[in-house]
Amino acid sequence: MLLGFRTKLKLNNRQKTIMTKHAGYSRWVFNWGLKAWSMTYQEGLKPTANKLKKFYTNYVKPHYTWQSQLSSRVYQYAFVDLDNAFKGFFNLKGTGYPKFKKKGMNDSFSLDNCGKWIPLGSTRIKLPFIGFVSTYEALPDCQVKKVTISKVGEDWFISFAYEQERQIPEKKTAIVGVDLGIKTLATLSNGEVFPNLKPYRKAAKKLSRMHRNLSRKVKGSNNRHKQRIKLASQHQKVANLRRDYLHKITSYLAKNFSNIVIEDLNVKGMLANRKLAKAISELGFYEFRRQLEYKCRLYGSKLTIVERWFPSSKTCSSCGLIKTDLSLSERIYRCKCGLEMDRDLNAAKVLANQAVGYTVLACGQSAADGSE
Ligand SMILES: [Zn+2]
Repeated sequence: MLLGFRTKLKLNNRQKTIMTKHAGYSRWVFNWGLKAWSMTYQEGLKPTANKLKKFYTNYVKPHYTWQSQLSSRVYQYAFVDLDNAFKGFFNLKGTGYPKFKKKGMNDSFSLDNCGKWIPLGSTRIKLPFIGFVSTYEALPDCQVKKVTISKVGEDWFISFAYEQERQIPEKKTAIVGVDLGIKTLATLSNGEVFPNLKPYRKAAKKLSRMHRNLSRKVKGSNNRHKQRIKLASQHQKVANLRRDYLHKITSYLAKNFSNIVIEDLNVKGMLANRKLAKAISELGFYEFRRQLEYKCRLYGSKLTIVERWFPSSKTCSSCGLIKTDLSLSERIYRCKCGLEMDRDLNAAKVLANQAVGYTVLACGQSAADGSE
C-alpha cells in the first residue's frame, strides 16, 4: 500500500537558508523553462521538457556558478514539474497554461539520492546534499526514492510517498504487558527487558555537571555564554538519545504484538512521590505513550491502557492476591501461592492478564470494532 506522509521540519536558521536557496533555485529553473518553452514554440519549434533540460544543462547552467553550490537534483525535478504542468494543460485537466512561479507562493523543491534509497525513520534523517534535519513528529520506518520540501507560511515541511509493509496480525504474538520502571525502562510480560541506556545515563550525568559549571560562571561573561551554548547542545544530545531509544522500543512493540497493555502513566503513588514523578517524566514515559499510540494505529495493533488505580505491582500474576505491604525497595515479588518473581516482570504479567475486559482508550482498532 502506497501512503503519503507530510510533517513539519525542525530547522535552525542555517538550514532554513539552505532550504530557501533550493526553493529559489527550483523556481528560477522552472520559470526559465516556461519562458524558453513559450519562445521556442512561438518560433515554430516543438519544445519538450527533456529537450529544454538538455539545452539548459549544456549552455545555461554553466553560466550561473551559484547553481553549482546547490543540489543538482533540484533543477532536474524543476523540469519534471514543468513537464507535468504542460501535460496538465495539454490533457485539458483544467489546469490552464502553466504560470510563472512567484517567490513566497508554494515555495518547494524535490530531492533524490541519485537512484539510491533514502532511509527514513525516527525524528532525525539524513537528506541527500542537505545533511541531517530533524522533525517534530517521528517519520515512519521506511525508505523512499524522493522527498519534497515545501514552505507554508514560515514553516517548512517534508513530504514523500512510501510503501507500507502492513503486519499481518495473525503473525504477531497476541498479548504483551509492559511495565515501565526507572531501573529497567521497560519489562515485557514475556520476560524481555529494555534496560535504561548507559550512554543516556552518561550523557545525562554530564548534563547535570555542566549545569553546575554554568552556575559558577560570572553572569554576562563570555565564558558563561560559551558554556550556555555547550549546555544547549548537550541538552539536545540527551533528548535525541532518549527519543531514539524510545522509538526503538515502541516500534518493536507495535510491530510484534497485537495487543499491548500498559498502565495509565499518571500512576498513583508517583504523584505522591515528587522525586519519582520527576524521574519518570525525564525518562519520557509520556513520550513513550504518545509514540505507542500512533504506532499501534500504523501497524494495526491494539493498545490497552489499564486505569491508574489498578494495583499492578501489588497483585500476584499467578493467583491474583493483592499485597498491601510492598515497598519500592523489594525487587522480588513473593506470594503465599509460591510465586517468586522479579517485581517488574510480575507487574508486566499482571498487566497482560488485564488485556481482556479493560477499556481501550486509544488505539487503531478500538475494542468496539475489534473484529480483526
Ligand atoms: Zn500468588
